[in-house]
Order: sequence, then C-alpha cells, then structure tokens
Amino acid sequence: MHELSITESILGIVLNHAAGARVTDVHLVIGELSAYVDDSIQLFWDELSRGTVAESATLHFKREPGTLFCLDCQKPFSVRQQDFLCPLCGSAHAMPHGGRECYVESIEVSTPE
Ligand SMILES: [Zn+2]
Repeated sequence: MHELSITESILGIVLNHAAGARVTDVHLVIGELSAYVDDSIQLFWDELSRGTVAESATLHFKREPGTLFCLDCQKPFSVRQQDFLCPLCGSAHAMPHGGRECYVESIEVSTPE
C-alpha cells in the first residue's frame, strides 16, 4: 500500500500549486524501478481528491527508465527490458541508482473566464 501515501503527497503538492484553481490534468513521472502501480494511484486519487479542486482531474503517467549502478566497474547503466546485468562487464552486482522516484512533473489548471 505504498500508493496511498504517495497519492496523499501528490495531492498535497497539486493542491499547493493549484492555489485554489480547478485542476484539470496532473502529469506524474514514475520510475521503472519503483513499485508503484498506476491503477492503484488512480484509485486512491479518485478517493482522496473528492471534494477538492483537483477532483476529477486526469492523471497522466510517464514512466522513466530505471538506472542501476554497477559495483564492479563503478558505472551507471540503464535497465532495458528487465535486464539487470551490466552491459559493460556483465556483472550482476548492481544497485538501484535512479528510476525509483515518483514525482509531479506539472499540473494544468483551468483558467477562469
Ligand atoms: Zn559493470
């Protein structure tokens, strides 16, 4: 249930930035290596945003490729198709380097006529 707390913080950020304006779209970036599930975030979003200016805003998810850091050759590399081996030396001794984040890239608000 990581999605509940991440959705809460997303909503907090969105409401903060919206400053009272009606939010129409929220653009999120989610790292490939994070365990967040789009559908769960959407589900919690529908619950949590009810009654706020962000109610019925559309969530857009953008997946960011994951990055690992090879402990043997000390170089970062990106994960392709769940291949976690270092492309340079073939080592499996790698640790997550990036791509585990989840953040709000931008929001769109409707401008009052
Ligand atoms: Zn390596």
